[in-house]
Amino acid sequence: MVALRLWMPWLKVALHVRNSVGPGGSPDENGETTIDALIMDGLTMEVGAVAAMRYVTDGIKAAKLVMRHTEHTLLVGEKASEFAISMGLPGPTNLSSPESMETWTKWKDGRCQPNFRKNVSPANSCGPYSPTHYLQHPGETCSSIGHILTSNSGLPRVGLHSHDTISMAVIDRMGHIAVGTSTNGATFKIPGRVGDGPIVGSSAYAVEEVGACCATGDGDIMMRFLPCYQVVESMRLGMDPKLAANDAIARIAKKFPDFLGAVVALNKKGEHAGACHGWTFKYSVRSPAMKDVEVFTVLP
Ligand code: ASP
Repeated sequence: MVALRLWMPWLKVALHVRNSVGPGGSPDENGETTIDALIMDGLTMEVGAVAAMRYVTDGIKAAKLVMRHTEHTLLVGEKASEFAISMGLPGPTNLSSPESMETWTKWKDGRCQPNFRKNVSPANSCGPYSPTHYLQHPGETCSSIGHILTSNSGLPRVGLHSHDTISMAVIDRMGHIAVGTSTNGATFKIPGRVGDGPIVGSSAYAVEEVGACCATGDGDIMMRFLPCYQVVESMRLGMDPKLAANDAIARIAKKFPDFLGAVVALNKKGEHAGACHGWTFKYSVRSPAMKDVEVFTVLP
């Protein structure tokens, strides 16, 4: 479990999947676990993020080190790990676990299906892969070519059990807002893949005067739409959290009817709402006025 510890929280909204991100999460094609993470301070608009980070267990702490101790926003790969370790985080640590290795071995035994490759040979087994050629028909435009590109397996790739994001928004007593997201990304991703987790405005966004947003789902699609940026900007223009969340999800679903994803919107007053597509998801809320954490279920 990842916690944002910027301030004493007055209200905390968390969105999480499975049980969940960290060591032993979603192995990639090579069986390795990596971490994408982002933290954003809605007061200063400072952001720190790490992507495809290896050998370090705590993505949020690494992202916070980027935010607090550099002028940069995003560090990636091996160099992100080197930075985090040089700034005091434990490592290098093997992020695999017996469970993640078992998941990966079963996938290998199943001829590496499903996977994230398309228009490659071999289509139905493990690599090495090479690109296949396809013919452009007369009159075919660039945009129509997009529709004939196929995934090898034809199966949904980011499904209910192939991702593990935790995303959290916090408002403190002074009304300051912050967000954070941490994820191992999509299970069996191609090594080097960066999802929406460390992309500001995609997996999370916060603006002090307006509110915040957290997201999870098929990051390869969601990051093209910056849904959390849209949610916060819609609230700035007057939409309530439910309308803003629904609108951001609807915009993606219009282009990608089969995508799987969810967002949670939180305004400055502490009002919140979720919207999702392709699944039923849950998020939790806690404030000092509540006796315990409350879990909200959102239907597609
Ligand atoms: N959004 C994540 C990604 O695509 C997956 C998740 O939601 O867990 O990397």
